[in-house]
Amino acid sequence: MSAGSFYITTPIFYVNDVPHIGHAYTEVAADVLARWHRQSGDDAWLLTGTDEHGQKILRTAIANGVTPKEWADRLVETAWKPLLQTVNIANDDFIRTTDERHEVNAQKFLQHLHDEGHIYTGEYEGYYCVGCEEYKQTGDLVDGTGDYAGQLVCAIHSKPVELLHEKNYFFKMSAFADRLLALYEENPDFVQPEAARNEVMSFVKRGLSDLSISRSSFDWGIKVPWDESHVVYVWFDALLNYITAAGYGQNDEEFASRWPATHIVGKDILRFHAVIWPAMLMAAGIEVPKQVFGHGWLLVGGEKMSKSKLTGIAPSQITDTFGSDAFRYYFMRAISFGQDGSFSWEDLSARYQSELANGFGNLASRVIAMVVRYCDGTVPAAGAFTADDLAIQATERRVTDAATSFIATLAIHDALASVWQLVDELNGYITLQEPWALAKNPDSRERLDTVLHTAVHGLGTLAVLLSPVIPVATGKLWTALGGDGALADQRVDRAWEWTGGARVSALEPLFPRIESIVEPSDG
Ligand SMILES: [Zn+2]
Repeated sequence: MSAGSFYITTPIFYVNDVPHIGHAYTEVAADVLARWHRQSGDDAWLLTGTDEHGQKILRTAIANGVTPKEWADRLVETAWKPLLQTVNIANDDFIRTTDERHEVNAQKFLQHLHDEGHIYTGEYEGYYCVGCEEYKQTGDLVDGTGDYAGQLVCAIHSKPVELLHEKNYFFKMSAFADRLLALYEENPDFVQPEAARNEVMSFVKRGLSDLSISRSSFDWGIKVPWDESHVVYVWFDALLNYITAAGYGQNDEEFASRWPATHIVGKDILRFHAVIWPAMLMAAGIEVPKQVFGHGWLLVGGEKMSKSKLTGIAPSQITDTFGSDAFRYYFMRAISFGQDGSFSWEDLSARYQSELANGFGNLASRVIAMVVRYCDGTVPAAGAFTADDLAIQATERRVTDAATSFIATLAIHDALASVWQLVDELNGYITLQEPWALAKNPDSRERLDTVLHTAVHGLGTLAVLLSPVIPVATGKLWTALGGDGALADQRVDRAWEWTGGARVSALEPLFPRIESIVEPSDG
């Protein structure tokens, strides 16, 4: 890793999934962090992509009369890349596990582990859920109901599991339990938040089994390099995307400059990322990730978002009405990152109206309108500052520092709450200073100029601070303020240092009034 490198990843999308707000939530969080670091002078790199191998994808492709690659191509273009546009993700790379750069270098990794004696041949018999693409312990199974009464079903998918008996290749993961526990002890930040760390530690303390890493009953996957009758287990394959996208096996210089990464994952796949993945890397002699951060569930009506529970909401259902900025702001502000959080249309509408439209948007419109009206659009020079003006300037610095500290610990919600103190203080400042009253009296001209000067500067600081979260609205505001240079090039960690333009220009409403909100029906 080079100095200032910030390599952040999302889980790769399982192509057969239907995009829902849970996927978009993870993407937005990673994107906000990447944008923040990019605007802090770091060499930030955001990776996302798709997971395209495995038995379930093969079966679905056959059922649709196409090859699995054609099936994946179709879903990547019609579902997943459009999702990134819907919520305005500025990813630097998009990897597909069917990319040659991935397949070839995943094989190199596997061959290396084999050569080093970390892989052996064994027999495996166990229950397998095709929905999860995972062998299940009996504790993961429940009694089926309805059509599946009398059978054992996957607790997640409520569908019967298959009893498989295969000759497999195994990764000697059990050999890494002690090193993993030492990693969690010595580097408490490796798995966060704390509840996730505790869960992972107690899981590993109960003892690790070796991991079956190949399948031979179907062939849609990466071939095991020394035995082409086997394909690599999809999770083992998928996890490797984080290094194959960063140059592993093909560009040592690039790999050295990016790796290790910060992985943002849902807590349901924490064990894959915080146990299996670092064990794989340890076996290969590669540095473990910088951090694995498990975010919580999105709950809708008290139930976890999931396609199989039919509570999925397409992100476009929200963005079509509220826009991508509101989507990004809402999920980053309303939910403590790392905790479970509830989504409701009522809460989204209320926050849109009170925080974005009335709080921030209205502040921006009013200040710019007053500069246009009272100063012909020229940003006035300030006279002597009073304690009230200096307090605003102090808040600009204070919230910039606070937000920067919160982002360093991935507390995006706290960073936004800090920035919003400036929104609230500026609104209070305008109310108290009453520039419209100052404008009526020629004797208070200098005071009017100072107030508007102070308010314009505060607004520009807000545009910079909020640009990683609401890039569309802040881009419009930045243009209206005549800010110097591109907004994306402004240092967010020194947001208050921005220099304003000489003139402002008219600003359309940043968050237009939404007359009626029709809650889309579930079905
Ligand atoms: Zn399952």
